[in-house]
Amino acid sequence: MSIRSESLLNINPNKQDKRFSGNVKDKPISEYYSRLVFNDESIKKYLMKEAYEGLRNAIENGQKIDLKTADFVAVGMRNWAIDHGATHYTHWFQPLTGRTAEKHDSFFKLDRHGNPIEAFSGKELIKQETDGSSFPSGGLRETHRARGYTIWDPSSPAFIMEAKHGKTLCIPAIFISYEGDSLDLKTPLLKSIHAVEKAALEVEKYFDPEVKRIVPNLGWEQEYFVVDEALYNARPDLLLCGRTLFGNASARGQQLDDHYFAQIPERVVDFMHDFENDCLTLGIPITTRHNEVAPNQFECAPNFETANIAADHNQLLMSIIDLVAKRHNLRAIIHEKPFAGINGSGKHNNWSLATTAGKNLLSPGPNPSENLSFLTFFINVIAAINNHAGLLRASISNAGNDYRLGANEAPPAIISVFTGDHLSNVLKSFMNDENFDGTNKGILDLNLEKIANIQRDDTERNRTSPFPFTDNRFEFRAVGSSVNVSNPMTVLNTIVADQLVIFKNRVEEERKNTEDLEKAIKTVLRQVLKESNDVIFNGNNYSPDWVIEAEKRGLPNIKSTPEAYDEYLTQETIDLFERNHVFNRNELQARYNVAVEEYCAKIDIEARLVEEISKAHIIPACVQHQNKLIDNVKGLVNIGLKDEAEVQKDSIREISQRLKNLNQYLGELRKSRLEAEAEDEMRARGVAFANTVKPLFDKIRAEADALELIVDDRNWPLPKYRELLFLH
Ligand code: ADP
Ligand code: MG
Repeated sequence: MSIRSESLLNINPNKQDKRFSGNVKDKPISEYYSRLVFNDESIKKYLMKEAYEGLRNAIENGQKIDLKTADFVAVGMRNWAIDHGATHYTHWFQPLTGRTAEKHDSFFKLDRHGNPIEAFSGKELIKQETDGSSFPSGGLRETHRARGYTIWDPSSPAFIMEAKHGKTLCIPAIFISYEGDSLDLKTPLLKSIHAVEKAALEVEKYFDPEVKRIVPNLGWEQEYFVVDEALYNARPDLLLCGRTLFGNASARGQQLDDHYFAQIPERVVDFMHDFENDCLTLGIPITTRHNEVAPNQFECAPNFETANIAADHNQLLMSIIDLVAKRHNLRAIIHEKPFAGINGSGKHNNWSLATTAGKNLLSPGPNPSENLSFLTFFINVIAAINNHAGLLRASISNAGNDYRLGANEAPPAIISVFTGDHLSNVLKSFMNDENFDGTNKGILDLNLEKIANIQRDDTERNRTSPFPFTDNRFEFRAVGSSVNVSNPMTVLNTIVADQLVIFKNRVEEERKNTEDLEKAIKTVLRQVLKESNDVIFNGNNYSPDWVIEAEKRGLPNIKSTPEAYDEYLTQETIDLFERNHVFNRNELQARYNVAVEEYCAKIDIEARLVEEISKAHIIPACVQHQNKLIDNVKGLVNIGLKDEAEVQKDSIREISQRLKNLNQYLGELRKSRLEAEAEDEMRARGVAFANTVKPLFDKIRAEADALELIVDDRNWPLPKYRELLFLH
């Protein structure tokens, strides 16, 4: 297929790029980092002292901004944006689509006398109005009551997005309905951050009465695939679903274990430099890049930041990666499972709590056995996971992640915590009130000339666990690569906040029995650990024995998304979120509705496309090939080689048999899809798509993939796995 290789000749990125980020080549990163962000330095420069302090007070202490301050900030922000070439501004928000949304307005206005001016007021900075009914609202908005508002979030800095022909000031914002219900992913995240900050502060005061503020930190690692754009465009499934619905595994996949950390292909590393420059200019502190396990799979990670900003930055990175890949005639695929038979992509969420004075509450320190503050936060997070494993599972569920979780290359659907042997021993001795020398394991002496000895880490790593503890943070590994991290982070913050409140209440109860605060804390901690022990698992989470063991321990193992979502609507969940002021019942119901609708729509699209690709692409190619074989048989018989024609006849028979199976399954697929579509009740519709429609994809694919192996390569209509995964 000429289209496949032609694309590779068409590489012409960034010639005469006038954008700021396109011209930072060879400069030290510190020179251009955050240059298109209204950061502290710019704020100081563009605002009067009073307004600067008002804004800082809002960012650091959560003070509300008054209209007067907002007016000053607006003028400063406008001047800064204009000085950097921006003509337009927009609130930049995160509706329940999981993507970002924007509506640009220009600074340009006409004054009373018809003179052109550039203006931007505090009111415009704070609030914009949208048509709320055009976004998914799960029933919270109706088309005749559509008003929705976006409201500026001062805690996440404004930035300028550059296109080749102009620049736009983007102002991070929340999105709510007329009644004040959240219609986005940022509002609940901010509320959950507030909840966990407050609860953690109350507990940390036991150890440090002077503590001022606590923040949750998040460092995500983003996995993605890169594919040549023309090959991508020739695959309707990648184009419309972000994943391949067909494709025989290439003879070589990841068996050689030779891709992880291997040399990055030049074309890809060029693309990485380019998108990272865009990210860095926008203040995303990206630091790490490497090849991942599967062919053409890569990862990038920034330094961690406070959870709200980190979440915004991940959304921004996903947009940028997409835009910049296109500039390089590549496509970045962030779907959880784009290719069968090789690893899928996740987004590991490294999460911790720290004081604003710089103390990480999850840092074990030199001797965790004697670090009661660490043990308190460590054990309470474990308890939160134990108490809400089902909800945490729901928070990472989507159609894409279902193809990945439990596929023996990703954390399974059973949520458990890995502590590592060292901390496990620390916990054991703490439980039994024994002395345990938990100091660092010391030096690893290699007995090698010239090579330095190294300090051993406290924990091993466990890549099979969905929620391992690594060094000084928990790493939520089960999160899907394509999702907005706000949702799982909202759940994590909330369940930890809730647990910390419960813990504090129990300690206060216990203090009625003893004067000794430390003793009271230890007594309650031991109770909490005992109650939560079942969620700790340090073995291999991929092993089938774990599934049996987890069932014995009563840990939920929810396989499909529509079933996982049930957790959102249990009375326990509603109480949890209402108690912590993160969601009300209506908001939860709305989110449930949106999530199930999205799940159904995605499987529905895949089902339609499976049918179309089979009928319009694969079957005609097979028939054409079969006709060639038939001509060949006729020819052989004509010249008297009857026996020799038998080989081709076998192929003809195999094609016929497989086409027959394929047609039968396609019939079943159409029927089950129509039945699922007709199902009125939402949960039943989700379950029908999960349990009757989706399983047919594999059956159809098995026939089609087998046909791919026998049909003439020149006739096969879809670029093959080896081309998608090994050409770069
Ligand atoms: P890995 O070896 O796990 O792949 P990476 O370097 O790819 O590690 O990513 C680790 C991520 O964890 C980075 O985003 C890093 O900033 C983040 N991280 C490190 N320490 C903390 C912490 N205390 N809290 C939150 N995130 C952290
Ligand atoms: Mg990593």
